[in-house]
Amino acid sequence: MRAIIVGSGAGGATIARELSQKGMEVIILESGGHFKPFTRRLSWTEPLRKIGLMGNEKTITRLFPYLETTRSSEELVLVRGHGTGGSTVLSCGNMVRADEGLKEIGLNLDSEFQELEDLIGVKEFPKQRWRPLTQKMFQSAEKMGLEPQATPKAVDAMKCVSCGLCELGCANQSRWDSRRFLEDAIQNGAILKIKTPVKKVLLENGRVSGVEIKSGISSKAIYGDLVVLSAGGIGTAQILKASGLPAQDKLWTDIVLTLGGVAPGAKMLKEPPMVWYSQQKDYILSPYVDILSHWFHKPWKNVSINDRVGMMVKLADLEEGAVYENGKVHKEISQDDKQKLEVAVSLAREIMENSGVSGPYVKGMYNGGHLGGTVPLEKSDVGEMRPNYLPEGLWIGDLSLAPRSQGMPTILLTAALGLKVARKILEIEPK
Ligand SMILES: Cc1cc2nc3c(=O)[nH]c(=O)nc-3n(C[C@H](O)[C@H](O)[C@H](O)COP(=O)(O)OP(=O)(O)OC[C@H]3O[C@@H](n4cnc5c(N)ncnc54)[C@H](O)[C@@H]3O)c2cc1C
Repeated sequence: MRAIIVGSGAGGATIARELSQKGMEVIILESGGHFKPFTRRLSWTEPLRKIGLMGNEKTITRLFPYLETTRSSEELVLVRGHGTGGSTVLSCGNMVRADEGLKEIGLNLDSEFQELEDLIGVKEFPKQRWRPLTQKMFQSAEKMGLEPQATPKAVDAMKCVSCGLCELGCANQSRWDSRRFLEDAIQNGAILKIKTPVKKVLLENGRVSGVEIKSGISSKAIYGDLVVLSAGGIGTAQILKASGLPAQDKLWTDIVLTLGGVAPGAKMLKEPPMVWYSQQKDYILSPYVDILSHWFHKPWKNVSINDRVGMMVKLADLEEGAVYENGKVHKEISQDDKQKLEVAVSLAREIMENSGVSGPYVKGMYNGGHLGGTVPLEKSDVGEMRPNYLPEGLWIGDLSLAPRSQGMPTILLTAALGLKVARKILEIEPK
């Protein structure tokens, strides 16, 4: 039996590893190329940045094609990975158990979380290597009763050189990303085809028979017995809609807003981002220098990277974005989300002020990189781990399945959903 897996991020790579390990023939179709980290020094961008020549967030894709940005409304920029490893190669390596909205529909992922944490080797980043200001802000948050905690990380501290640029790819492979699972799958015999964008799913007599891929200026069919769409919350919805199949207008993104302040010589990039976090209702707060805002957001222009201090708010936003038939994405920031962000930002400011960070305090760009909810699981789907309206042989294996926004890191959640889906495939699909 041949399984076609579309996408090689957190979901796709986990499923490819599991199916290939159990002897299934697996072919992985990835629209991007082999990922390479950004290895140039940031300092060369500083003169351009100061005179406003960095342009807008689209520039980053020109410099670094694995990071794709899309404006889903005037205010909100969506970020996703495009290449082997998907968005995991851009991650800060945070690995938390987020399962908002799942226990409510009868889905418990605790054992998958545990299995993946053990496999990946999740640990906190040693406190003695946190920047002094980061430690101070942790203490301030503690005094304010915000119960901060060290972030579980997929970062090998022995190898990490504290460059602070996890999101531009880890140049010395100290941070885990899903290419490790992809390598395991290839070792097990799976075939990876890069630069192979899938356009739509092919059906025969109501059952999936393969996919149509873009090949130069034309199209080609690749046949298989089952297809798993793991192209992420946007990519999977685009393929479904192009195939005349439903995806729901329930896209969520976990909106990020970073409050910037100033502390001369803070050098926050000399540690991995987000070494601690404080979880509040609907959002987390975490120390973070937002590179997107540093490069492209005018209000952040006058402060150097060494003096910039940031506190991120990551909000569980309303699930109401849409991916259209033409592939375009629309997602606004609702008034409700804005109000929650204001409350969170004022707490962020208090933590920073109590730690001696000075102003001017400036908000960064609104962005979202946790793209989920477009094929949400419902209670009646949990038994088969598959929305029951999908044609036979078609599976979804990515964050699209998560019905609720998390306001928390989502790799572990996506991989756990992937693991569960893969095991259902092995159980249900005929050999
Ligand atoms: C900058 C950034 C930092 C992040 N940091 C963290 C973190 O520290 N911790 C955490 O838990 N989460 C983090 N996340 C979120 C996390 O990476 C994602 O939620 C997770 O990777 C989602 O997995 P996925 O499989 O749904 O999609 P992805 O990992 O995005 O994978 C989708 C794959 O599908 C491919 N694809 C898309 N369309 C097609 C097509 N038509 N044909 C073929 N292939 C296609 C893409 O190229 C990609 O490889 C971060 C996200 C971003 C953007």
